Amino acid sequence: MKIYNTLTRKKEEFHPIEEGKIKLYACGPTVYNYFHIGNARAFLFFDVVRKYFEYSGYDVTYVQNITDIEDKLINQSKEEGLTVQKIAEKYFNSFLEDTRALGIKQADHQPKATEYIDEMIKLIKKLEDKGFAYEVEGDVYFSVTKLPDYGKLSHRDIDELKAGARIKANKQKKHPADFTLWKKAKPGEPNWNSPWGKGRPGWHTECVVMSRSLLGKTFDIHGGGNDLIFPHHENEIAQAEASTGNPLANFWMHNGYLNIEGEKMSKSLNNFFTARDIMKDYDSDTIRFFFLSKHYRSPIDFNEDILKESKKAMRSFYTLLKEVDYLKLRQDEPKYSTELIRYKNIFIKAMNDDFNTAKAISILFDILKAYRKNNKINFVHLIVELGNSLGFFQNLEQQLSEDLNQVSEQLIQLLIEYRNTFKKDKNWAMADTIREDLKKIGVQLNDTPSGTEWELIK
Ligand SMILES: [Zn+2]
Repeated sequence: MKIYNTLTRKKEEFHPIEEGKIKLYACGPTVYNYFHIGNARAFLFFDVVRKYFEYSGYDVTYVQNITDIEDKLINQSKEEGLTVQKIAEKYFNSFLEDTRALGIKQADHQPKATEYIDEMIKLIKKLEDKGFAYEVEGDVYFSVTKLPDYGKLSHRDIDELKAGARIKANKQKKHPADFTLWKKAKPGEPNWNSPWGKGRPGWHTECVVMSRSLLGKTFDIHGGGNDLIFPHHENEIAQAEASTGNPLANFWMHNGYLNIEGEKMSKSLNNFFTARDIMKDYDSDTIRFFFLSKHYRSPIDFNEDILKESKKAMRSFYTLLKEVDYLKLRQDEPKYSTELIRYKNIFIKAMNDDFNTAKAISILFDILKAYRKNNKINFVHLIVELGNSLGFFQNLEQQLSEDLNQVSEQLIQLLIEYRNTFKKDKNWAMADTIREDLKKIGVQLNDTPSGTEWELIK
């Protein structure tokens, strides 16, 4: 298997540290609000990494941190008039709800920053003792010039950083790129006692402490969105290597940006969507299809047209599963012919080539096409098996028997025919009533040149 490693900027052959086991860490949410659709891309992609490794027979330990103390939480607590702790609880719960709704399996460990403060203080103390950290009036900074290869993940050198950071220069720091390990508490802020007085740890310290505590000094893969490469992941590496001399992770994986109709998503541009917003209109498989149809390292453009296409694509699979009454068939033990094994191997080859999900999905369509020619049920079994390895088809009962069952579809078709008859008779009132009433129960009719089509809206 080959994985692109941000550290070396190339695809490298991947071997886990311990045979048969994968130790995976990906940065989780700062629980101060509902997470946005760009975060959803990262959460969903690393869920696929985990699921695919599991499908390939590995025993995976997946850790995702929960940042429950940070400036953003403090600001939100003022805005909502709740304590920082209540804000953290509220948005941790919404994070769990929303990831579950997206079909993302909960990580094996979701450590909270506030549960690891003592260990973080220990690390900062160690860095200070070794001469990598210094204190200025209750704040503690990491001294980047003390580490010869600082900047190796993001491929920046310290002088370049010095020039770039000049504007925001902080007089306390020895070098503008020095980053905060411990932050002195302002009056009224949550705080913990430390050798440097009351304060709280910095975000970069949190991830290095919790990942090592749960996965060991060096683990297999550290992941996150590519906005985290600098400074967050760079600074995790710096602390890890300065404190023990061991690398933190062998592979660094980063997913690409998400744009909204060609623009950067931002609250000020009014194009900011939470995952919750999108799930009002689209089911989890549609959203998963949308993300996975593009390579994870490429930027992705989020727009309604592509989402509608994704929905249509998923429906072609569900139509098939319904047709063959898959819920009854799925107990059967499938036997794969050489042709099917060939499809499976191409799928695995694509996924083993740095998680090429776009190619993998195209193979699912190839199998679907082949089934349409030969009607051999094992082709359907393979679609579901491979689809599952990407996290699709997790709610088959619901998808196949509740909202899309055969009878409902026939009833909708029947009503469309009645409406056509009313239109022919120029009984516009009745035709409109049918359309409006269907809409009330979540079925939208669209009149097109080739006839009336319908879609489910929530
Ligand atoms: Zn992190």
